[in-house]
Amino acid sequence: MSEEREIPAEDSIRVVCRFRPLNDSEERAGSKCIVKFPSGPEENCFSVGGKVYLFDKVFKPSATQEKVYNEAAKSIVSDVLAGYNGTIFAYGQTSSGKTHTMEGVTGDPIKQGIIPRIVDDIFNHIYSMEVNLEFHIKVSYYEIYLDKIRDLLDVSKVNLSVHEDKNRVPYVKGVTERFVSSPEDVFEVIEQGKSNRHIAVTNMNEHSSRSHSVFLINVKQENLENQKKLSGKLYLVDLAGSEKVSKTGAEGTVLDEAKNINKSLSALGNVISALADDKKTHIPYRDSKLTRILQESLGGNARTTIMICCSPASFNEAETKSTLEFGRRAKTVKNVVCVNEELTAEEWKRRYEREKEKNARLKGKIEKLEVELMRWRAGETVNVEEQFDLLDITEVTLSNIDVLLEKPETANNLTMASVDERAFLENECERLYQQLDDKDEEINQQSQHVEKLKEQIIEQEEVITSSRRDYEYLQMEVTRIQEENENAKAEVKEVLQALEELAVNYDQKTLEIDLKNKEIDALNGELVQRQILLNSAQSKLHQMEDMSAHQKKRNSEILSSLLRDISEVGQALAADPNEMKLNLETSCDKLEEEFTIARLFISEIKAEAKIVSQRCLNLEKFQQEANQKINEHEKDLSVCKLLISQYEARIKSLQETIREAENKKRALEENVDALRGECVKLKAAEVVSAVNAEEKQQAAFENLREAHTKQVSALRDEIAEKQGLINELQDTNQKLALAHQQMTTDYEKLRQGEAEKTTKLQELLLSHERREQARKDFKGLEDTVAKELNTLHALRKLFVQDLQARMKQSSSLEDFEDNGESLAQKQKNYFLENNLEQLTKMHKQLVRDNSVLRCELPKLEKRLRTTMERVKLLETALKDAKEGAMQDRKRYQYEMDRIKEAVRQKSLARRGPQAQIAKPIRAGQGQTPFKAAAAGSSPRLIVEDRSIRRVAQS
Ligand code: ADP
Ligand code: MG
Repeated sequence: MSEEREIPAEDSIRVVCRFRPLNDSEERAGSKCIVKFPSGPEENCFSVGGKVYLFDKVFKPSATQEKVYNEAAKSIVSDVLAGYNGTIFAYGQTSSGKTHTMEGVTGDPIKQGIIPRIVDDIFNHIYSMEVNLEFHIKVSYYEIYLDKIRDLLDVSKVNLSVHEDKNRVPYVKGVTERFVSSPEDVFEVIEQGKSNRHIAVTNMNEHSSRSHSVFLINVKQENLENQKKLSGKLYLVDLAGSEKVSKTGAEGTVLDEAKNINKSLSALGNVISALADDKKTHIPYRDSKLTRILQESLGGNARTTIMICCSPASFNEAETKSTLEFGRRAKTVKNVVCVNEELTAEEWKRRYEREKEKNARLKGKIEKLEVELMRWRAGETVNVEEQFDLLDITEVTLSNIDVLLEKPETANNLTMASVDERAFLENECERLYQQLDDKDEEINQQSQHVEKLKEQIIEQEEVITSSRRDYEYLQMEVTRIQEENENAKAEVKEVLQALEELAVNYDQKTLEIDLKNKEIDALNGELVQRQILLNSAQSKLHQMEDMSAHQKKRNSEILSSLLRDISEVGQALAADPNEMKLNLETSCDKLEEEFTIARLFISEIKAEAKIVSQRCLNLEKFQQEANQKINEHEKDLSVCKLLISQYEARIKSLQETIREAENKKRALEENVDALRGECVKLKAAEVVSAVNAEEKQQAAFENLREAHTKQVSALRDEIAEKQGLINELQDTNQKLALAHQQMTTDYEKLRQGEAEKTTKLQELLLSHERREQARKDFKGLEDTVAKELNTLHALRKLFVQDLQARMKQSSSLEDFEDNGESLAQKQKNYFLENNLEQLTKMHKQLVRDNSVLRCELPKLEKRLRTTMERVKLLETALKDAKEGAMQDRKRYQYEMDRIKEAVRQKSLARRGPQAQIAKPIRAGQGQTPFKAAAAGSSPRLIVEDRSIRRVAQS
């Protein structure tokens, strides 16, 4: 920069006017064009209704976007890159073409407006500049709506405040600044801002016509050779529609908004008017945030261009005229521009030397003046030639011209007292402004806090709805479990009934067994008696046999002796032989008869004994079986009892779960109530804060502070409440964890139950196998019985044969017994028949027993089957219960995860956004190899951030 540019230069605000073409609706309504442009080549004037307006530049409706850019905005690019501040803002009624002029259609090379063209140009300029310049470019994008600054790159910043830096230049504190290194980066930022703007509002058209959007490009450059640093800020502002409120027909809150919008626009008008009026010393920049932000652009250090956008339609005549008046006033405003240079130590030294020299010169002059003053005071008259040349003074004070300009009345005759007073007042004013700024910042912080709280409320509401859903689900679950419980109860009832039946059966069987035992006892008694009889009969038989043998012997002896005697007698007498023979025969017959009767009797006794012993055996077997059955039934009973106790335990646990769910529900409902209360409170606080924000009068400072303190305390209370809420949530979390534990223990119990059941099942299977085995054994028994019967048959045959043989023997032994044969035969037949009858009876008995056992078999089998089915049912029930437990467990896990995630998110949100990394770019770097070649410098690829710098020189 050259030396002379350091001195601030006066520069008028440039005002250009653009008329858009008549739009369709205006043409349809038959609106006429009220503007008349000169027929000549002049491009700076026109007339409306006979009144001529003169501006720096006038664009007809046919003017292209490119023309408007080239002639109204292009020069600002080089200014900004040379270290000047720049501003372009568009003023005009809604739909007069402000946005069309500022933005146009981004991405369309013909329809794109000033902003995209400027962005492209800035980078192209940089690429064609000296290689040793390094640039840092950052952009911000925000809107001002209802005098609140809303960051479009961070939606959480909804009410930012304006502060002043050390040079007393206002800036938006805390606004997001994005470092960019290419036009694409900038367009990305713009797109993001626009989409955020769309998200925040419902009616975009209405919103954009009521809000001011500000796009700020901040360019810092450093000369790497001499470390000279320059910086320039470029404000690109699309103002809200300048139309009167009445025209929009706004009402209620909308009217409120419109008033506020017009307030900031009227503040802009007032600032312009005050600046245009040379007599006004106070410029009301502080009346709105818009004018504060544009403070440097209006009468400060900036090259400013105002785009006056107008509709040429007769329908809009009044608005157009007021817009043109605004432009006319603005044209007279003068800015004082200078380069924003950060001086190096060397430079500062040079300037110091210069000032020192100037100071010495001034001291000399003051001495001269003092001498002259002394002479005047002493009553002397100093000649004109001797008087000090006052022109010298103006030369000297030129460097302080800005001070003089600001305080023209202080140039002359100010007493020390008034200077002090003024200084004091200024200080006071400064202090108050500082306070105001602080309050603004506080408001900003509070509104951000409110926003955060709102978000939290939304989050909490979400949590509540999800909890409610969960609760409903749990209730459903509970009803389901209750149903299950009912089913289980019914099942238990059935089982109990079955058990009762079994018990009854058991009683019957025991009774039967008792009866049988008694019978057995009776039979045993009989048997004993019979045995005794048998024994006595046998002994008798033996005796008889002995006797018969003896008698036979004696008989034979007698016979032989008799025969001998007879032969002797016959020999001796040889008289009456027939009589003797007859006597002998009769005695023999009697003996034979007695003998057969005795035999019959014995055989009868034998048969009976056999039957009795057989019966005994059968009864013993039956008793054994009955005992087995009793054992089995007892086992079944114990299993059922166990099941009952398990179900009871389960019912108990389920009831507990229900109670817990109820508690949870109650807690959640309380939460909802508390949150609603908070919501109301917050809304009230918001309203209060909004009202407070409006009051800006100095006199109301005290009130404001009070309101603030109240608000702060209210908010603190709210925070405390929130903390409480968080605690409650944590409590619920803990409760849920407890419920989870409970479920796991239940699950364990169920698992144990399952293990028990499986062992029982195994036992049952074993018993089943045993039963099978018993059945097989029984079959074997049957077989053996059949075999026994066969052998019995065989024995009977043998017995019959034996009898026949014996009979034959006896007949052969006593060849002379022909007459008694038929009787003996009859008796034998009778005996045999009797025997046969007995045997058939026994056989029948056996068959009956067999059939009874067979009847018993299907019953037992049926019972076995029912037991098996029951086991299966229990198994499925167990499986279901297991699955339910697993699901519950999963659900609780999910719930826990969700709560954890929410807590994590909250803690993350508390930490705030992260710092950005600057992306410096270098001048002279071609974006493409073509551009680099065109720029004529060697292309360098530089990838840099704050920590990395890598240069690859080709
Ligand atoms: P504002 O931002 O002032 O409310 P817009 O820029 O949105 O107005 O313009 C309103 C409409 O008029 C848009 O559809 C726009 O395309 C159109 N328009 C504005 N100026 C021109 C122009 N110079 N040439 C063609 N159409 C224009
Ligand atoms: Mg617009």
